[in-house]
Amino acid sequence: MITAIEIEAKAKELKSKGYPVISLAIGEPDFPIHENIKKSINKAILENKNYYPNPQGVVELREAIAEYETKRKKIHISPDEILITAGGKPVIFYTIFSLCNSDDEVILFEPYYLVYPYWCKVLNIKYHTIKLNEDGLIPKDQLLKHLNNKTRLLIINYPNNPQGSLMTEENLELLLEVLDKYPRIYILSDEVYSELVYEGEHISIFSYNKNRVILLESFSKTFCMTGLRLGYGIFPKEIIKNLVTFNSNLITGPATPIQYGGITALKDNEVKNYVNFMREEFKKRRDFVYEKLKILVKFKPKGAFYYFIEIPYDSLEFCNKALNEKFLALTPGSLFGDSFKNYVRISFANSMENLDEGLSRFLSLLWNL
Ligand code: PLP
Repeated sequence: MITAIEIEAKAKELKSKGYPVISLAIGEPDFPIHENIKKSINKAILENKNYYPNPQGVVELREAIAEYETKRKKIHISPDEILITAGGKPVIFYTIFSLCNSDDEVILFEPYYLVYPYWCKVLNIKYHTIKLNEDGLIPKDQLLKHLNNKTRLLIINYPNNPQGSLMTEENLELLLEVLDKYPRIYILSDEVYSELVYEGEHISIFSYNKNRVILLESFSKTFCMTGLRLGYGIFPKEIIKNLVTFNSNLITGPATPIQYGGITALKDNEVKNYVNFMREEFKKRRDFVYEKLKILVKFKPKGAFYYFIEIPYDSLEFCNKALNEKFLALTPGSLFGDSFKNYVRISFANSMENLDEGLSRFLSLLWNL
């Protein structure tokens, strides 16, 4: 199965050949990295901080994350519980790999981020999928039906890619109840969009049971650092020790200077204002897209930067047509699970001009097929 990043690569290739391509496919902020982050990375290089990093992550970065997350999650987090990774994606692999054996089962919720089933398949771990309601609610009866003594891991994602839904009090209660009743189960909580919330509040289950919840976070979306590859997992103590050794033997860690850039991202007040500014901009874009698409969508996403839209066509065929005939890159819904073969994902992490033109192309294809 193709990924959104591969679709983006194809779109860029067409663009480099001179085609007027607009891509609303990928979840990548179009804002530049803040100057202060760039300066810190350069400074680290000039100061010869180019040696192997600590395999758990540069200590000062882990201290900065511990402080940042302790404040946000309102629960004490120590630098020892944090593993720095090259983007957030490795946390998904590390979690499944360290928790699950071939007899164990994983529960995923559709629409899901493609990387979750990918790693289950590669690691030969059985998984069940449960379809979320449109508002991101987990259907309790379905969840209870799928739980058994083999269930080892649930993977959740709020704010959700691609629905934009937030964790609700109802979901939280249900999941805490599950952790209570099933002592073998852990939850991986993917919160890479936690700073991109436009209405309502981001609730993290990690705040309520950090012994059984792994937190996945990333610098990619919040700080426009997708290409710098910096993320982290916060793991229960019994898991992290082996992962540090594993990380040490695999990549040692993300590039040392980039990790110094991460410290500035978390601590610098100008960067904080920049994140607030970007959130406001994304909100304006979200509202703009809603005005253009309101006959097709029921509500605005509360977080992240996507619209997930039902269309009366096969999503792969539609997206191929969009790229080949309209030079518009979109992400097919089928990437998010079998229930979404008639959906497309539109990213609004793009300029108003590109959104305006891209949505006109989308609508003209949709109405004229
Ligand atoms: N989780 C979700 C839900 C995502 O959408 C993404 C990126 O699109 C990631 C994790 C991983 O991002 P990165 O590896 O860039 O931190």
